[in-house]
Amino acid sequence: MRTTVLIVAAGSGSRLQAGVPKAMVTLGDGHTMLEHCLDSVVAARDAGAIELNAIAVVVPGDPDHAASLEAVCHDFAARTAVTVQTVPGGAERADSVRAGLAAVRTLAGSAGSAGSAGGPFGRHALLVHDAARPFVPPAVFDAVATALESGTAAVVPAVEVVDTIKTVTGAAPEEVTGTLQRTQLRAVQTPQGFDLTSLEAAHRLAEEGAAGAAALTDDAMAMEAAGHRVGVVAGDPLGFKITTQLDLMLANALLASGSAAPSTPSTNLEHH
Ligand code: C5P
Repeated sequence: MRTTVLIVAAGSGSRLQAGVPKAMVTLGDGHTMLEHCLDSVVAARDAGAIELNAIAVVVPGDPDHAASLEAVCHDFAARTAVTVQTVPGGAERADSVRAGLAAVRTLAGSAGSAGSAGGPFGRHALLVHDAARPFVPPAVFDAVATALESGTAAVVPAVEVVDTIKTVTGAAPEEVTGTLQRTQLRAVQTPQGFDLTSLEAAHRLAEEGAAGAAALTDDAMAMEAAGHRVGVVAGDPLGFKITTQLDLMLANALLASGSAAPSTPSTNLEHH
C-alpha cells in the first residue's frame, strides 16, 4: 500500500533547553534527530516494511530554523532519491499536523494514489511520526503498515506502562483523585497509521470542535473523537520520545553502545 510519511519537526523543544528546535539537536554520532528519523523511515522501506511514496516534513515557522531543517531534508533527498517536501508548522502539534496534511494530499495525489491505487480499498496510507523519536525500528513500521493493509483506518504502536498512573486535582497542593488500572494503560508512540482521507476528515472535525488543536496530543485522538476504532500494535522501547536531557543521555548511550542504529546513508553518496 503506497504510504506517505508525515514527520512533525516544528516543536520548539523548550523542555530540552537546547536553544534550537528539538529536531535540530545533534546526537552523539554527529547527526541531528531529524536525520535519524528520516533514516529510520528509509530503513523501514529498505526492510520491506513500507512502500514509501514520499515524506512531508513540518518545520518551524522561524525562517532561520526552517532553513537548517530544510537543508537536512534536501541532503537526505539527494542521497536517497526519496521525495521530501517541507512545510511550515504551527503553534501546537495538531496545527503542525494540519499544515502537513495539505502537503501530504499533494504528494499522495502527485503519485497518482489518492483515492485510486494501492490499498485494499484504493486508500492512501499515511504515517504520522514525531521527529523526536529517532530510533523506531522497521518492525514497528511493519506492524503499523500491516494493520493498515488489513483495512483498519487508524492504528497506534504502544508499549505497556511501568509506573502506576494517578489522576490529581491539578491545583497545588495536589491531591489524588483516582488510580487508573495499569493493565488497561498503554504508552502510545509514533508512527501512527491512518487512512489519509479519514484522518483529514477527523482533523477538520476536531478543528471545528470546542476543544480545538491544543487538546489533541496525538492524531489517534482525532480519529477516536470522530468515532473510528483505533487498532493497537506492538511498539518498541526504542520508539521513545526525546523530551528531556535525560532522554538525550539515553539516546547517546544507546548510540555509543551500538544498541540504536547510527544515522547511515542508504546510498553510496557522500553525506557529511
Ligand atoms: O512537544 P512534543 O514532544 O509532544 O512534540 C512531539 C513532536 O511534535 C515533535 O517531533 C515536535 O517537533 C512536533 N511538534 C510540531 N509542532 C508543534 C509542537 C510539536 O511539529 N507546534
